[in-house]
Amino acid sequence: MTLYDRLKSAPTKGLKGCSLGKILQALDVKDREALQAALLVPYDSDDRISNAEMARVLQDEGYDVKAKTVETHRRGGCGCGASRATK
Ligand SMILES: [Zn+2]
Repeated sequence: MTLYDRLKSAPTKGLKGCSLGKILQALDVKDREALQAALLVPYDSDDRISNAEMARVLQDEGYDVKAKTVETHRRGGCGCGASRATK
């Protein structure tokens, strides 16, 4: 195999959606819209659910999500935003 072939077939890092993004995709419309809306509440709003509380609510529902994942997703630091933009 040539270097060219190796580079062409090597796995790429890519930007994949986070676990929260996967949950969002799996939810039914009503739950997804409610979660999306809750995630988008501005940081300085009284209605904002903290990252830790959001993770706890999701964990109570049986989803494996860490507060850090919620934070990264809200910041747009995961691949969800990038993958959304291409759709
Ligand atoms: Zn995400």
